[in-house]
Amino acid sequence: MAKDQGPSPLGQRPIPDLAGPNISKFLCDMGLPCHGSASGFTASLKSRLKPCPWAAIEPDMAKLYFNYSTMNAGKSTVLLQASHNYRERGMQTYLMTAQFDNRAGEGCIASRIGISDKADTFAPGEDLYVKLSCRLLEQKVACIFIDEAQFLEKDQVWQLARVVDDLKVPVMCYGLRVDFRGELFPGSAALLALADEMREVRTICHCGKKATMVVRMGSDGKALHEGAQVQIGGNETYVSLCRRHWRAAMNGEPIVG
Ligand SMILES: [Zn+2]
Repeated sequence: MAKDQGPSPLGQRPIPDLAGPNISKFLCDMGLPCHGSASGFTASLKSRLKPCPWAAIEPDMAKLYFNYSTMNAGKSTVLLQASHNYRERGMQTYLMTAQFDNRAGEGCIASRIGISDKADTFAPGEDLYVKLSCRLLEQKVACIFIDEAQFLEKDQVWQLARVVDDLKVPVMCYGLRVDFRGELFPGSAALLALADEMREVRTICHCGKKATMVVRMGSDGKALHEGAQVQIGGNETYVSLCRRHWRAAMNGEPIVG
């Protein structure tokens, strides 16, 4: 995962490399400087963004939201429903999810109950303020939805905060709060610190209590204590539990699915 880069000056770090062929072409097409300084780009971009006709219907209401939960609680279902609600009212939404391989842009947000939608992707090191600014220049967007937000880097969460504050577009993030060891994901830690509003997507433990924790189950049916924080796929190896049963599982008791 991303290394901690220390305190970020409110996400205002210089805009990084803009020399990628796609973004350069896009900037040139828009009449924006594609080889100039980062500050020149920012000034030019801001001049294009004011006034901001594609801002949310109530621009002053734009907020950074964090909808968090444990595994298999239905976050993606909630995200897709919320996006649908916008589109049903004739407003466009922009969906993003974590890029798990090299196929930039080819993402999909899928729910276990069988609904899905195409999504753009975000990758480590990518400047999401630049990416979303360019997208907003192309198309009016009422709300930005981000799935797998636990995989955001701390700086990327600051960049999303700038999108909310400066471009007046709401950003709704959906992600896991803690990993299978009971530790915060970096993206979730930053969102817990910065989000304007937080909501819990609830699911239950086998005992009926709210599940707030998750275990990764080994082939012996017992909880794993070690391993990478990020594991692609294999959702069936995770079991969501209340804290008491998570502690029992981590102490070696068999896991009740
Ligand atoms: Zn329980």
